Amino acid sequence: MKMVVLKAVLATLLSMLASLAICWTAIHLAGGSMNWFPALMSALCPLLIAFPASMYTFYQNHRIALAHQELEAAHDELAGVYRKLAAAARIDDMTRLLNRSTFIAELNAAGQRGAGGVLLVIDADDFKGINDTHGHLTGDRVLAAIADVIQSVFSKEGIAGRIGGEEFGVFLEAATLARGKALAERLRCAVERVEVQAPRNAIARLSVSIGVASVDSKADFSSLMAIADEQLYTAKAGGRNRICAPDMEGVTVHLRTAS
Ligand code: GH3
Ligand code: MG
Ligand code: MG
Repeated sequence: MKMVVLKAVLATLLSMLASLAICWTAIHLAGGSMNWFPALMSALCPLLIAFPASMYTFYQNHRIALAHQELEAAHDELAGVYRKLAAAARIDDMTRLLNRSTFIAELNAAGQRGAGGVLLVIDADDFKGINDTHGHLTGDRVLAAIADVIQSVFSKEGIAGRIGGEEFGVFLEAATLARGKALAERLRCAVERVEVQAPRNAIARLSVSIGVASVDSKADFSSLMAIADEQLYTAKAGGRNRICAPDMEGVTVHLRTAS
């Protein structure tokens, strides 16, 4: 507000000076001489007109500038909220991995880049039994624990998501089948070592079965998933806590049997 008054005073002083100068020039051109009355009038008129007009104009400008600043701040805040919402909409709440739709979209995008890769479908073994024995809350904590292990094994490479229920997916873009199998085995062993505290001092022990599918060119989610699912089914049928992958001829290879 102080600036508004200062600017209005300055504008009024300039108007008074201009008015005096114009009046003095006009009187001299007409052959007269300046006396106190025209001098007073040419100073008083701008004072009475220019000061309130400048005050009004500068005050309105000031309000518009303030409103503009507030709008910019609100816009920045909204953009931040939008960014957070967009990021949250990609994530599965319980596991902090990508949710199903985002995982599928990312896998399809990676598949279309044409560098191939390996898809791992990871399923918690006897998860219904864990729920039934230790309760659903412990079941939820088990899912979060498995997701943590997936994050730690694949943090630097791979797109990891929760496909649904107790099933997870990891796509390793441009990875060889050997690399995919090695990482799957590292994950399987790491999950075996996890112990989740359950009620009444019980401990839930975990294992996962993993189906592997590999492709060396363009691929989409459903065709890779069909192969990995088939391998997962074989791993389950073979006794769980193991990895199954097709060999070069498409025949299932059991990589590691449960100890
Ligand atoms: P398998 O070794 O053959 O995979 O057996 P499973 O018991 O793991 O598989 P099944 O499909 O029989 O049961 C999966 C269970 O997972 C059933 C469902 O209630 C439970 N489940 C799915 N989502 C959640 C979840 O978010 N939290 C909890 N606690 N349980 C879940
Ligand atoms: Mg299961
Ligand atoms: Mg399942």
